[in-house]
Amino acid sequence: MNAAKELWQKMLTALETEVSAVNFDVWIKTLEPINILDGKLILCASNAQVRNFVCDKFRPMIMSAMSALNPYMTDVVLIDPSERESVAAAEETFVIDEPEPPARIEANVLSPRYNFESFVVGKSNRHMYEAARAVAEQPGVQYNPLFIYGGTGLGKTHIMHAIGNYVRIKHPHLKVLYAGSEKFVNEYIESVRTTKGKSSNFREKYRGVDVLMIDDIQFIVGKQGSQEEMFNTFNELHQAGKQLIFTSDRPPQEMDIEERLISRFQWGLLTDVVPPDFELRVAILHKKAQLEKFNIPGEVLSYIAERVQSNVRAMESILNKVNFLSRLNEQEPSIETVTEALKDYSDKNEEFVTAERVIYCTCKYYNVRSEDLTGKKKNREIVEPRQVCIYLITELLSLPLASIGSLFGGRDHTTVMHARDKIAGLVQSNIKIKVAVSDIKEMVLKRD
Ligand code: ADP
Ligand code: MG
Repeated sequence: MNAAKELWQKMLTALETEVSAVNFDVWIKTLEPINILDGKLILCASNAQVRNFVCDKFRPMIMSAMSALNPYMTDVVLIDPSERESVAAAEETFVIDEPEPPARIEANVLSPRYNFESFVVGKSNRHMYEAARAVAEQPGVQYNPLFIYGGTGLGKTHIMHAIGNYVRIKHPHLKVLYAGSEKFVNEYIESVRTTKGKSSNFREKYRGVDVLMIDDIQFIVGKQGSQEEMFNTFNELHQAGKQLIFTSDRPPQEMDIEERLISRFQWGLLTDVVPPDFELRVAILHKKAQLEKFNIPGEVLSYIAERVQSNVRAMESILNKVNFLSRLNEQEPSIETVTEALKDYSDKNEEFVTAERVIYCTCKYYNVRSEDLTGKKKNREIVEPRQVCIYLITELLSLPLASIGSLFGGRDHTTVMHARDKIAGLVQSNIKIKVAVSDIKEMVLKRD
């Protein structure tokens, strides 16, 4: 890997926690590192408009991520594809020093944007919010652990960062650690590899804190060693009265993990978060528009809230797109702008990838009939394709579980959940299922 790529990879890790997931996916991640010239990192955007927008909005952030990693770098230059060739051909003139130890990035891992003030409370998330406030006021006292679960894009990560940010201000003497469970798992594996289990650094890191927050704990499914390590970490911290907080896409009892870990997760408070209703969606959009200083009329915000129902992240992405399009066309955002912004969104998610398409491709792959796939037969030859199909639908589309159930001959949502989780587990351990899932997915996503 060349130096520009290597530096950019590290910057991406830091930037991911600085901007919203949507901004990260739409703007930051699409930039391509081209070269380093005279201590300047050259990034290429997909076109001139994107370049201008990124320059306007994200350049300072990109700069600071870069200088945190390498203080010798002086500038970030954004180019568009027309300039690409000449810059790529120039000889790289700056060699990257060893980067700073990761501790510096970790210190900033909590995004300041995710705080309690920027979180909008309504019926669907009030319980989670109040539990989070209580824990942030007095860590280790009331709800321990706090276990938050619910679908994607509903604010779980946001609320976790909010707890962390609050604790750092209110109780500056307390040590707070936030990590995604994949990070926990990777670091655990690395520590086993390098120290053969006598991993004192790893243990010190995770057990020497007052508040431990592990995001998306469901990734621990199928990872035995990490589950055991988590169990021991949990016990040590809990006994010492330290606060533990977890998020997951499902409740502990529906995770395919060690029983004893499930029961630990259930010791404190379990709270779920569900998709917001219309009023809350409108309120969130108002808040976002205000925070981002977007000038978007109320009726346009309401229209977005009407059209995008599944999760807040998707809604935020349309909001950004509306703002972008209206700036691009130099027009006041209107219902038409939303329609235009939604065009891509529905193309991608609704019109092109449909449940019917997933069913069709699954049938083709397994060579079964769709009446059988969605019908009542219970023999093995049909149950596996059916479960794979259900899994793929939940993965590719944000449909309510109950509606998926009704596509499969009126099965209820718990059956759908069971199928989804079963395959999610098997994808990790069973090569045949893994291949089937990835082949069918490819078939579904391929535009002919
Ligand atoms: P999850 O971790 O549940 O997948 P995130 O916390 O990443 O979801 O939220 C996705 C996006 O939606 C974030 O940008 C977050 O700020 C925003 N969001 C979700 N719920 C709310 C809310 N109630 N108020 C304000 N923003 C929210
Ligand atoms: Mg999250």
